[in-house]
Amino acid sequence: MESNNYNDPAMIGGCSVPVRVNRKSKADPTVVKVSGIPIGPSGVVIIAGPCAVENNEQLLETAKSVKTAGGVLLRGGAFKPRSSPYNFQGLGEEGVKMLRDVSRETGLPFVTEVMDTRQVAFVAEYADMLQVGSRNMQNYPLLKEVGLQRKPVLLKRGMMATIEEFLLAAEYILNQGNEQVVLCERGIRTFETTTRNTLDLSAVPMLKHLCHLPVIVDPSHGTGHRWMVPTMAKAAVAAGADGLIMEVHYKPEEALCDGYQSLSPDEFSKLMADLRKVAQAVGREIYQHD
Ligand code: PEP
Ligand code: MN
Repeated sequence: MESNNYNDPAMIGGCSVPVRVNRKSKADPTVVKVSGIPIGPSGVVIIAGPCAVENNEQLLETAKSVKTAGGVLLRGGAFKPRSSPYNFQGLGEEGVKMLRDVSRETGLPFVTEVMDTRQVAFVAEYADMLQVGSRNMQNYPLLKEVGLQRKPVLLKRGMMATIEEFLLAAEYILNQGNEQVVLCERGIRTFETTTRNTLDLSAVPMLKHLCHLPVIVDPSHGTGHRWMVPTMAKAAVAAGADGLIMEVHYKPEEALCDGYQSLSPDEFSKLMADLRKVAQAVGREIYQHD
């Protein structure tokens, strides 16, 4: 048993860090390779794309703009966790196939969400990276199932999860033999109502202090406001994030999901230029595909 020593990185404020994700168990930071793209200390990886896959034109045009601006991974939800059962639920398997086609056309590997153990084998066959969303961070059968895959996993922090619970969720995946896990801070629920979530940027240095896995930030769900995304994206890079995942839509005003927090291609392109400066100022660089 660890003693409750506050100088011990494994025990901070009562947070006990599980063994496999613990930084003490592995000297070097983990680099997660997503179809050749390294997420880790090397460069800041930019993941962008629509909240949901809607149709081929929307996905392709958005993906092209992401690529032109310098994004290196495509995001897009096909199995969507929607708060209301009456909202667009995503295109399911058809959407995953669309992602695969657009990924091939643009050369951008993609990440997409799995919500259910029954979807994992199918999605793992197509996707370059599997996303476990905030609402499923403590879905233990799902964590075990993605842990059995040999595909990298993007694990989003539960909206009500402590750092310790977040790390324990990651430990479930590593325990199954899959060490390719990227942690994503996407905002937590607080008493604040002006933002969709409270983006906990202090989670970035804390997670990196406690654990060897790469940490990325989602300023789109973290704020819920398009106009706030650039500011918090820059702040996340300054805070040491190894990457960002952001919602971009070729016509945000027509988006079927989360348009209000999605950047237009022009806004995304301008942000990329600013991010390069911020990364440089903190001794890092934005990862570029050659
Ligand atoms: C998403 O990234 O598509 C998403 C639904 O985010 P979260 O799980 O963080 O709410
Ligand atoms: Mn969304």
